[in-house]
Amino acid sequence: MPSSKIRVDLVEKLASLLQRSGRISEHLRETPPSDWEELATFRENDEVVEALDDITRSEIADIKQALRRIDAGEWNTCEECGDEINIRRLEALPTTRWCINCASAKEDH
Ligand SMILES: [Zn+2]
Repeated sequence: MPSSKIRVDLVEKLASLLQRSGRISEHLRETPPSDWEELATFRENDEVVEALDDITRSEIADIKQALRRIDAGEWNTCEECGDEINIRRLEALPTTRWCINCASAKEDH
């Protein structure tokens, strides 16, 4: 089954994202410096880290969802129209939930 290899890849990706997410939380828990110039840099870093945190969280959510879909045997079924999603598309975009037609229809809106 082609999904089993992709599942392994997704689990590995998930593990590294969770690790990154742990490092991000550590940074966000650091005590702000008392010097105001340092504080400004610290806050700027915070914004970058928070943006990264958002991306990491949504990637984690996407992968968890893809794993649920694989385990439920719905991984290659389009959520929108119920058609089969092309395997090449899934290999390129393993967390996708839509077939190419539905995905491009969504991009138009
Ligand atoms: Zn579709």
